[in-house]
Amino acid sequence: MIIDLHCHSTASDGSLSPVDLVRRAEAQGVELLAITDHDVIDGYLAVQEGSSALQLVSGVELSCCWGKTAIHVLGLRFDPANPVLVAGLQAQQQARVERAQMIAGRLAKKGFDGTYQGACRIAAGSQLGRPHFARFLLEQGHVSSIAQAFKRYLGAGKIGDVKQVWPELAEVLGWVAAAGGAAVLAHPLHYKMTATKLRALIADFKEAGGQGLEVISGKQSKDRTTYLAHLCERFELQASCGSDFHQPGMTWSELGNTGRLPSTCQPVWADWV
Ligand code: MN
Ligand code: MN
Ligand code: MN
Repeated sequence: MIIDLHCHSTASDGSLSPVDLVRRAEAQGVELLAITDHDVIDGYLAVQEGSSALQLVSGVELSCCWGKTAIHVLGLRFDPANPVLVAGLQAQQQARVERAQMIAGRLAKKGFDGTYQGACRIAAGSQLGRPHFARFLLEQGHVSSIAQAFKRYLGAGKIGDVKQVWPELAEVLGWVAAAGGAAVLAHPLHYKMTATKLRALIADFKEAGGQGLEVISGKQSKDRTTYLAHLCERFELQASCGSDFHQPGMTWSELGNTGRLPSTCQPVWADWV
């Protein structure tokens, strides 16, 4: 069975509409899919029926922080109407809007007006971020390239580099639990932590109610899979897998290209199919 429990649509930073995403997943032979847009479930809500060949479960990739590190948690197979979860998602959106307005305010001090409205227009319903500001600055002729927009105004340490503040890990795990979902620590090796620090994160994650680790994230080496499967065993956590697909053409993150979990793993989806 081909399973993909991590991918993005145009509701966040993916390039395919939810409908096209599900179509592509079907064409790739995916039989169980979760659309996990960043902090929104609109993509999932648009296609929640799935199809006869493809079972769709609700999903979201929640941004949060653990100490000073930004962490991503996948919420899976929750009740999308749960008021605690819905309020949490609204707060995430509000946090993004406030950050974007702060970026715009700072750019205004440099004499660039209308960047918030401009960036919103360019984002066209997807989640507003610095790339949209960069494209607006380029469109208005303030910079000669996207790279220059980041180098001068939006990159690390520049005036438009406003840090996004996210809720604590335990708080977002609480939203997923309230909605009856499973919480999975997304791509544990992407945070570039030492092994000791990663184990501390996983211990806290489990303590706060987390259920599983994303053992497979896109195309990855067997070593990584084995290592993460071992961590699942050690912490008595379930395992998940996903492509983290954002757009076609990226061979390391194609829908359904998730390989097989090691036999020692307890799949998070065991009771879902
Ligand atoms: Mn993304
Ligand atoms: Mn992520
Ligand atoms: Mn992702």
